[in-house]
Amino acid sequence: MSAQPPVPPRRAGGEFALIDWIRRRVGSHPRLEVGIGDDAAVLSWPEPDSALVAVDMLVEGVHFDFQHATPEQVGRKALAVNLSDIAAMAGRPVAAVVALALPRGRDEELGQRLHEGLVGLAEATEVVLAGGDTTSTDGPLVLSVTVIGTPLPGGPVLRSGARPGDRLLLTGCLGQSRHRHHLEFTPRLDEARALCDSGGLHALIDISDGLAADLYHVLTESRVGARLRARDIPLREPRSATEYAPDGRTALAHAISDGEDFELLAAVEPETAAQLIAAPPFETPLADIGEIVAGNSAELLMPDGRSVPLPPLGYEHQLD
Ligand code: ADP
Ligand code: MG
Repeated sequence: MSAQPPVPPRRAGGEFALIDWIRRRVGSHPRLEVGIGDDAAVLSWPEPDSALVAVDMLVEGVHFDFQHATPEQVGRKALAVNLSDIAAMAGRPVAAVVALALPRGRDEELGQRLHEGLVGLAEATEVVLAGGDTTSTDGPLVLSVTVIGTPLPGGPVLRSGARPGDRLLLTGCLGQSRHRHHLEFTPRLDEARALCDSGGLHALIDISDGLAADLYHVLTESRVGARLRARDIPLREPRSATEYAPDGRTALAHAISDGEDFELLAAVEPETAAQLIAAPPFETPLADIGEIVAGNSAELLMPDGRSVPLPPLGYEHQLD
């Protein structure tokens, strides 16, 4: 007969205090009928009647460590990555719920500081923290955030709608996100709305795994190919595209393969794309970096005029 594991206590004293603090910290929201303090949150959900749901989990030692990020930054990022996913569906986020496993014996303040970062971004984006679950653990800190939202008029916009002839438009710039950007980025919610309002948006994705990898998600789902122009891909680094960094890779290779840029890549009908580029409806830079073509693979036009295949991953050798 196998021994039954002991039932863990549902809640330790410090966790009640933390939940109380969070409850006081979170404000009201037009969609929130019942928030923190009951068995489940109640949201009003008039129109439209479909909901977008995204979840993301951050594990200490795997996705972050407190040597390189403050608790506020980690809490903020846990929400921000989900907001980026909602933006990438052409959605508007409404509410978030948090699941937190706090290592036993860690500073009491830690939970508060994580939530402070998270709630700060929630307020800035008019998202309400509607509830959550808090537990202690003998393992690493785990923070999981779920966001629920509504599709914008004209949304949701999927990865599967790209058509040959569409232009590929990119917000912001790419590469070397791990130095700072991944902790500070602004989810492209307003940009997604403007792209959706343009009426010519066929497919949308946020760049979390790297431009090449995420472009291929669109290509695979839409059953199309693409041609990118290296010269037009905006780089975060000041170095020129083909200059080598101390790590032996070029800024272009970083821009194409690094992840966590959280920019939007959109496939847009060509006339609308030309209008968007001529008069961008937002301040964030918007670049036309290539086009959708028939086929099932991508190629990259290099600054020296060579055309090279762009596989989803591991193309560094061809680019350097
Ligand atoms: P239950 O045992 O019924 O699941 P809990 O004791 O886990 O309730 O939670 C009490 C209330 O506090 C619930 O409304 C829950 O949504 C909220 N809550 C718990 N942890 C968090 C958290 N980390 N952030 C926001 N709300 C939380
Ligand atoms: Mg309950």
